[in-house]
Amino acid sequence: MMNILYQSTRGGEQDVTASQAILKGLACDGGLFMPTEIPKLERSMRELAGKSYQDTAYEVMKLFLTDFTEEELKRCINCAYDDKFDTEVIAPLVKAGNAYYLELFHGSTIAFKDMALSILPHLMTTAAKKNHVEQEIVILTATSGDTGKAAMAGFADVPGTRIIVFYPKDGVSRVQELQMVTQKGDNTAVVAIHGNFDDAQTGVKHIFSDKEFGRELADKGFVLSSANSINIGRLIPQIVYYVYAYGQLLNHGEIDEGEKIHVTVPTGNFGNILAAYFAKQMGVPIDKLICASNDNKVLYDFFQTGIYDKNREFLLTISPSMDILISSNLERLVYLSTGCNASQTADLMASLAENGSYTVNETMRQRMADFIGGFATRQEDEDAIRKVYKDTGYVLDTHTGVACAVYGKYRADASDATKTVIASTASPYKFSRSVMEAIAGEELPEDEFSVIDCLHKVSGLEIPQAVEEIRSAQIRHTRECETEEMKKTVAEILGI
Ligand SMILES: *Cc1c(COP(=O)(O)O)cnc(C)c1O
Repeated sequence: MMNILYQSTRGGEQDVTASQAILKGLACDGGLFMPTEIPKLERSMRELAGKSYQDTAYEVMKLFLTDFTEEELKRCINCAYDDKFDTEVIAPLVKAGNAYYLELFHGSTIAFKDMALSILPHLMTTAAKKNHVEQEIVILTATSGDTGKAAMAGFADVPGTRIIVFYPKDGVSRVQELQMVTQKGDNTAVVAIHGNFDDAQTGVKHIFSDKEFGRELADKGFVLSSANSINIGRLIPQIVYYVYAYGQLLNHGEIDEGEKIHVTVPTGNFGNILAAYFAKQMGVPIDKLICASNDNKVLYDFFQTGIYDKNREFLLTISPSMDILISSNLERLVYLSTGCNASQTADLMASLAENGSYTVNETMRQRMADFIGGFATRQEDEDAIRKVYKDTGYVLDTHTGVACAVYGKYRADASDATKTVIASTASPYKFSRSVMEAIAGEELPEDEFSVIDCLHKVSGLEIPQAVEEIRSAQIRHTRECETEEMKKTVAEILGI
């Protein structure tokens, strides 16, 4: 088998093994790790369609994680995709209206982050053994609401690891906040920052690139890593479900072998949709990738104009996990569109850091032509949720609602009825209040759990374990800090 290595999008690191790239998270020059090439699937889609989620995961991930043995990788996969998921199929595909919803929220924290974060801790501890890492691994994570909980659920009480999560104090749903502040595990810490998600993400990136702090940590026996979607150990597991979704369409007789489909993804940090693009490059017959944004439509504008410009107001929406102005993983697409030119990518990212914007040239734009940007306002999101519910009884969460609205507009405007898979990224229970407001439109009770019970009544969906758990759970984390104090807070938590 070909030995795939990893390199930084900014040229500062080369010949890095998969396990090292997973351990590091971010390259030392601030760039993101990319495989030297995107491997092709070794089996036909028809063959893959006959496989379980776990076996599909092995077929995909082995091609990227070439320094993991078969036994190591299979152990990671089997530990991750087990009965933490409430369905054996792990990622069911459900037809509702004129689209297929790929439900990525059946894991322990009921958002799609579980798809990658239930395996990342296993990949990371395996990688640490492989590379004889003696230090304690400290996972630093900025979250717009879902990553934090999913990462803690994965890393809680994993020997040799600690995890510190920063979330925007007023930027997450009540259920998301409760899920985080009630997290158990002696190695977990949660901090509410007085800022938005971009502040949290930028703060974490600064800590990573602070060489002096890195040395200080090393002296005390710690090494930093990241559970954010910049980690290749998150991107690669996310490719699996797009391969699996195509297989399900084949199995259900919905498409013919080789028939092209579109994929629509509610997007924030650009990790999930980038995984779909990787699946396409690997050979899955995907035509267009429809990138759905909410009112923070920096990506829509980018695909429209070729100008990425984060200089704009940061808006809080009812789809908070997509409230992002700096979509980190876009750097990987930019890099690919330069023909893997690291110095050109580094220049564009320097411009982003200095001026908050950059412009890509015509050639690069042509290489990104598989992507179509769209956005949906709050009103359009709510209308989409209500319409799908009225027409089919199926309940979307507010992020999937954005994708549904954007897809609906695309389908009508382009008169294109190509079969489309929509990534369904969260259980509606995670955003019960906004979902109920969209469906019922009437006064709702003050109490969050009464709203959850209302949602249960209208949807008939079983209330997930993740929600039942927090009804009575004790609050264990109350720490808050200013955005300038994040490094100091990390030092305090680690006791250095
Ligand atoms: C994280 C998240 C997204 C955005 O995914 P990206 O990979 O950051 O683009 C969308 N919806 C939900 C529910 C999420 O948790």
